[in-house]
Amino acid sequence: MARPRDSQRQRLYDWEDILERTLHGRTASHPCDLHYARSIVSMVCRHYKIDKARWPGVTDGRSRRRAGYGYSSNTVKLPKWTRDEWTVLHELAHFLVCYRWGLRKASHGREFVSIYMRLLELFAGVDRKLMAQHANNRGLVFDHIDTYRKVRGKTWQ
Ligand SMILES: [Zn+2]
Repeated sequence: MARPRDSQRQRLYDWEDILERTLHGRTASHPCDLHYARSIVSMVCRHYKIDKARWPGVTDGRSRRRAGYGYSSNTVKLPKWTRDEWTVLHELAHFLVCYRWGLRKASHGREFVSIYMRLLELFAGVDRKLMAQHANNRGLVFDHIDTYRKVRGKTWQ
């Protein structure tokens, strides 16, 4: 089955931009190096009780234009100019979607947005109402922020 089309990608980027501008100087994204990025991976994976063997690696993403999460290599790739907290959480939201659904969901689909919002709330202190408001304003389709919060049994699934 082909992966659903990634129809919300630009809207998601626009939403991130407006949020960052709104929050500038408060809870906006802080720069981070690879070491800090790995500690964010560790915090998020512990929160979702992901088995350590499945935690994504973090690499410098040399030669890439953008940050990204590679499904087959299970790595978050972070070129130098993309290194900040929100970017790491964005890529970890991709990781969590793939962990749970493989490639069956659109890359920036409604599940992704919900999970990313939750990471931003938990690990960057961004206000959920503000996120939902801007998302609604931009026509971003998303599931409620608490939809995928549950860790069942030993892991998140
Ligand atoms: Zn993305």
